[in-house]
Amino acid sequence: AKRADNGQLVWYSPSMSRASRRRLDLLHDLESAIHRGQLTIHYQPQIALDSGEIVGVEALARWPQPDGSFIPPDRFIPLAEQSGLILDLGNWLVTQVCGQLSEWRALGLGALRMAINVSMVQFNHEGLIDLLADALQRHSLSASLIEVEITESVAMARPEEVMAKIARLKALGVSVAIDDFGTGFSSLAYLQKLHADRLKIDRAFIRDMGLSENPYSIAEMVINLGHKLGIKVLAEGVESPAQATLLRSLGCDEAQGFLFAKPAPPAPLTHWFLETGL
Ligand code: C2E
Ligand code: CA
Ligand code: CA
Ligand code: CA
Repeated sequence: AKRADNGQLVWYSPSMSRASRRRLDLLHDLESAIHRGQLTIHYQPQIALDSGEIVGVEALARWPQPDGSFIPPDRFIPLAEQSGLILDLGNWLVTQVCGQLSEWRALGLGALRMAINVSMVQFNHEGLIDLLADALQRHSLSASLIEVEITESVAMARPEEVMAKIARLKALGVSVAIDDFGTGFSSLAYLQKLHADRLKIDRAFIRDMGLSENPYSIAEMVINLGHKLGIKVLAEGVESPAQATLLRSLGCDEAQGFLFAKPAPPAPLTHWFLETGL
């Protein structure tokens, strides 16, 4: 321990420098994993609640480890975001998902919407529109197959720029979803001006449904709000039949969650699509 200028004791713990060294190692490994194409993508189906049909998938990045485990995106996405590596990751991911869409098309599978997560740095980056336009063109894919998900906090950060960027995405033909909705404080007026295509109710509000005194108020409010504004609503993290029933009765359009399907690697998912005749 050492006494700082203000007289307080400051610990220079060896574990602290180990932690930052560990972080640097992780960053270095992530960089090489991205550049060697060692990341993979799992896809989680999105279901229309009235028909039960699969209408889309969400692409979720995975970092496989030699022992067969995965480092979860909640650990490496923030790291990639802070270091700027997220742009390389995003380039790679857009190419991959377009390749996947064209493979599904070649197999005669129905047109599935592909939702991709776009972080703050990616969304604000000037190259986003060209990246999407180029990848779509290379695979002769309709832009309407792609949906960009931005979190409510990204959507709220710089209103003017966000509205302009969404307008450009929509001009390209790409749709836009507001992810983790309900956790921020978007005003009604702002939401109306955003022209988003979909609100994704954050998992926390689905988990809480049917638990407390006023059981499904937030989910219900988001569904009604979305519909008043002509925006479709998707419920995230649906795990039980009771939640699905409640959401259906509230008129929620779509759902995603372990009840229907967990995120899965492309091969078994494609197999399943072919078997069930998507
Ligand atoms: P998110 O966009 O909110 O994605 C949904 C997360 O919920 C996924 O976690 C998914 O596996 C999980 N999930 C889905 N259904 C259920 C359920 O029924 N119950 C529970 N408990 N969880 C469920 P995952 O794959 O670990 O991703 C975590 C976050 O990492 C994502 O949250 C997203 O913000 C970020 N992320 C993932 N892939 C990418 C990417 O390619 N780019 C960017 N920028 N962010 C990504
Ligand atoms: Ca998402
Ligand atoms: Ca989410
Ligand atoms: Ca989330």
